[in-house]
Amino acid sequence: MAKKQTSTILESAVVKDGILSLNGVEMQQIIEKCEGCDRVVTHETGGKYCASYAQPAAKWGRKACNFATHVRAEVDTTGKVKVNPLKASKRAARGR
Ligand code: SF4
Repeated sequence: MAKKQTSTILESAVVKDGILSLNGVEMQQIIEKCEGCDRVVTHETGGKYCASYAQPAAKWGRKACNFATHVRAEVDTTGKVKVNPLKASKRAARGR
């Protein structure tokens, strides 16, 4: 299970008309595929955001997000991209 991070990175974020922005960049909430990633941070409004990307959905195009800590994309013999969850022991070995 991913550890919960405090939203220190979002401390200077501003909410206006229900939209969170950080340094003038609109922050979009994470998508379902991001659940379990260690980079997810929760804002005081309850919204979940990515600590690395303002638009997490854009990181999940044809492959898995290359910064994801909970899954890894692998290309199989047919050239298809497979997304595999990382085991907790592997995450621990990576120092997370
Ligand atoms: S690093 Fe990638 S998988 Fe993790 S929260 Fe950000 S966009 Fe989602």
